[in-house]
Amino acid sequence: NAEIAFAGRSNVGKSSLLNKLFGIKIAKISSNPGKTRSINFYNVDNKGYLVDLPGYGFASVSKEEKKKWANLLEDYFVNRYSLQMVFLLIDHRHEPQKKDIEMIQWLRELKIPFMIVLTKLDKVKKSERQKKLNLIKSVLSGYGEYLYFPVSSKTGEGIGLLKNEISKFLK
Ligand code: GDP
Repeated sequence: NAEIAFAGRSNVGKSSLLNKLFGIKIAKISSNPGKTRSINFYNVDNKGYLVDLPGYGFASVSKEEKKKWANLLEDYFVNRYSLQMVFLLIDHRHEPQKKDIEMIQWLRELKIPFMIVLTKLDKVKKSERQKKLNLIKSVLSGYGEYLYFPVSSKTGEGIGLLKNEISKFLK
């Protein structure tokens, strides 16, 4: 069965986006970053699974926890033939962070296809959007060519386009 996965730094807006896209309510773990996380699967209209990958980038997390996170994801990614696409979430307001770049490099090494979702679009002034998008694209262009989906879970902007893309993988 087809799977599409969502990944990103903690607090990037993943829970809000999954709620907006699929009406899924995800229990928040932000208040307890040290807690062992897991990968959650949600059946989407019997067309496939959406996979909620645990967020990364908590400053306060121990080395062991980081290792656990990496092992968990590695176990998931290896020989994952059912995985059609990863949607990697990055905050539209900021330049991609070291952790995001590491994630991109990892996905590339594993030959897992992915697209970039830029979250919290409503927080970027309309007059700044193109400039910000170009900046992010230029930073990431060193790692390959990707599709970008700027979205706001708050206003719904860009959600239709992303939904349309997702539906290509779930049918
Ligand atoms: P997660 O940790 O990646 O699951 O992030 P959440 O979905 O919990 O969002 C983290 C914070 O960002 C919360 O305070 C959300 O209300 C806020 N947030 C998420 N998406 C958006 C968005 O599109 N626009 C705005 N303005 N805030 C957002």
